[in-house]
Amino acid sequence: MILHIDMDAFFASIEQAVNPRLKGKPLIIGSRAGKMRTVVCAASYEAKALGIHSGMQSRYAFNICPNLEFVAADQAKYIWTSEQIFRLLEGFGFALNYASVDEFQMDIRDYPEPFKLAREIQEQIYANFNITASVGIAKNCPLAKLASKINKPKGVAIINDANLKEVLSLAPLTKACGMAGKTGQTLMAQGLKTCWDIYLNLPGFFGADENPGKFEEPSEDEISRRPKSISHSYTLPNALGNPIVIGAWIRVLSEMVGERLRRKNLTARTVHLWLNMPDKGDFLAQKTFAMPTNDSYEIYRKSLKLMAGMPKKCHKIRALGVTVSYLECQDYLPLLIEERRREALIRAVDGINARFGDSSIFPAQVILTRK
Ligand SMILES: [Mg+2]
Repeated sequence: MILHIDMDAFFASIEQAVNPRLKGKPLIIGSRAGKMRTVVCAASYEAKALGIHSGMQSRYAFNICPNLEFVAADQAKYIWTSEQIFRLLEGFGFALNYASVDEFQMDIRDYPEPFKLAREIQEQIYANFNITASVGIAKNCPLAKLASKINKPKGVAIINDANLKEVLSLAPLTKACGMAGKTGQTLMAQGLKTCWDIYLNLPGFFGADENPGKFEEPSEDEISRRPKSISHSYTLPNALGNPIVIGAWIRVLSEMVGERLRRKNLTARTVHLWLNMPDKGDFLAQKTFAMPTNDSYEIYRKSLKLMAGMPKKCHKIRALGVTVSYLECQDYLPLLIEERRREALIRAVDGINARFGDSSIFPAQVILTRK
């Protein structure tokens, strides 16, 4: 059996938990700080009840409810909370996976009282974090995820062989994982309406008897084989004094470092910059950031910030290097909509370069290094 544990309105609930003034009020979390010029990335249940939902332009949300409370997203806080919840859930002693930042899959095998366990989990999460979760119970991950949505918020639902047809027939197709967008629309155009229709027509979708999720912990061996850092450096043919061209070289190295991180499905929190100056020796700087990244542009921007800490006066640079460390596995997709778009873009670019050769497509800035 799988328990799918899904936090209710996660980001909004966290903000309401840390700031009691926001409790019980319609609240949106914005991807960016400008409250009229951002996208809703989460809405409290009070806001959802008014028809406000994530993905909506914030100004539309304010049209619906001028008194809407607004908080800019604080990703580090959400990730920290998520990690704490993961730890709490680990304490139950079953194999555990991240499904997303606010969803966890627990393989409870043949544990005899899944419903009681689900309630216990909800209580502990509430006692520790003052936020609520819904739990779905079923024989495999897609069904358990669907079950978690049935009685939201604070719900527990079981899908078993006895109620499978009934529950799936009542659930609109768009409730199934991955069916909210175009795929769902295509299937609806073909006459499929409910999750039961999916079950009958796409046998693999809900049908797997075996749990398809991977629940193995990374082995000690795997962790020890994970690199501690990733680094690229370059010695220039001639020392360079033009900060724009130096920046372009940092971009090149950041692109290489980011690509390697992504290939290994890792993210980094610490960025190091090394600059060698023929007249002054080495400049070394590093900084650890709250948000891990494997976006080359982010690594580049962080490296530039480090370079800004160089003693004034522009020195000539002979060699340079970009290193990242504090590497972690990437467990889930980025939290914010804009970041997901960006990740899709980066993945597309990586795909093109993997297929047509390393530098088929690259940032225009890099041209400055090719004279
Ligand atoms: Mg959720």
